[in-house]
Amino acid sequence: MSEQFVPGVYARTAIVGLAALALTNCSEVTGSTSGSSPGFQAYAQAQPAAPPPAVAPAPSAPASPSPPREWSGESGASGHPEMQASAIRRAAANFGNCLESLWPLAEKRKVSRATFDRHVRGLTPDLRIMDLLDTQPEFSRALWDYLEILVSEARIATGRDLLVKHKAILDKVEKAYGVDRHVVVSIWGVESNYGTLGGDRPVIRSVATLACVGRRQAYFRDEFLATLEILHRNDVRPDQLKGSWAGAFGPTQFMPTSFKRYAVDFDGDGRRDVVDSFPDLFASTANNLKRDGWQAGSTWGYEVTLPKGFDYMLADRSNRKTLREWEGLGVRRAGGAGFPRPDDQAFLLIPAGSQGPAFLMLHNFRVIMRYNPAEAYALAIGHLADRFRGGGPFVQPWPRHEPVLSLSERREMQELLNSKGFNLGEPTGRFGPRTRAAVRDYQRSVGLIPDGFATASILSRLRGR
Ligand code: CA
Repeated sequence: MSEQFVPGVYARTAIVGLAALALTNCSEVTGSTSGSSPGFQAYAQAQPAAPPPAVAPAPSAPASPSPPREWSGESGASGHPEMQASAIRRAAANFGNCLESLWPLAEKRKVSRATFDRHVRGLTPDLRIMDLLDTQPEFSRALWDYLEILVSEARIATGRDLLVKHKAILDKVEKAYGVDRHVVVSIWGVESNYGTLGGDRPVIRSVATLACVGRRQAYFRDEFLATLEILHRNDVRPDQLKGSWAGAFGPTQFMPTSFKRYAVDFDGDGRRDVVDSFPDLFASTANNLKRDGWQAGSTWGYEVTLPKGFDYMLADRSNRKTLREWEGLGVRRAGGAGFPRPDDQAFLLIPAGSQGPAFLMLHNFRVIMRYNPAEAYALAIGHLADRFRGGGPFVQPWPRHEPVLSLSERREMQELLNSKGFNLGEPTGRFGPRTRAAVRDYQRSVGLIPDGFATASILSRLRGR
């Protein structure tokens, strides 16, 4: 994913590496300059698709090693002063001093000098990360394509096998944390395609680089220190502490700080090893969701159908009603079943406009978004979990005829909306709730169905053609 971090919001940056596909950011959702969540309409074509499932595998053995790519030597697209090529070179030249200056903070966290020296001395920056930090891919994926890749038949089948294989552990974890096992395994499937390491970059080097070079230094200083704590406590073996360029590691992509907050030693060996112990992995992931507010016994949401003449202005994250109230407005569960817990609160999400499926999202959908703040991600997690349980594909079709807008087209649409008074802030090319609201207001003003779905025909209309 393109930028992934949303300090304080996301538990992991799921972005990169294997899960990459998932989160390539295209949204302003987080409000972060590096926001990580894809909006609904465009999912960047991130890295090549995830590796094949490696269920029981030896730590990462890339099949076809490709030579490491070097830093481009160019200034970052963000225009941030710390991303200027000259600033990056300067920071790289000062790398050792910068890391040493962090020693007192590490010492305060009870990291020993021996640990610090062993893992930090002699480190060189991985400057290729600077290119990745400012990448915003021009081409994107439609939501339906993104879901098809993440919720593929193969991923469904592998997940079902793993649920059987690990049943005994999952029974205990589900009992201890009250978090649906299908969602835990779904996170594993989406983040790393059931892989083991979740990346091949040494975490300490990635977070050291980001802590001393580029525009996210303050944020990554904490990740760097948390990584040292992991190494000092020997929770995860140093040779297995590998991950995405942003430092997310393990099958479910823990960031070092979220590891610190949520990881648990469920097998009782004294180490919190989310890489090499299935009990620790499942329990830590479940604990993360639990601590973020998971409601036991409830699901994430439902696909629903809307009645003719439905007021699309009701589809807004801030507009929550009970399922019973939604039913009173003519909203029905797709497929005809009823809502088992009619008093639960939900908001209506229509990710691909009035021609696509609609969803009522429950509290647990928001909890999944705390794991990774992207609606598309949370929808993939929830849907994959349902498929494990035997649920079918979505009932309503996606508007597959709609072309996906490129980055420059998305930016142009935002500029045009701003110029017409539908203010959505700085045009970034990332679509999120503010863009959706602006599109909706525009649609209403010209007599279209205000579903907030930004299509090519709307862009063309905005251009006055
Ligand atoms: Ca353990």
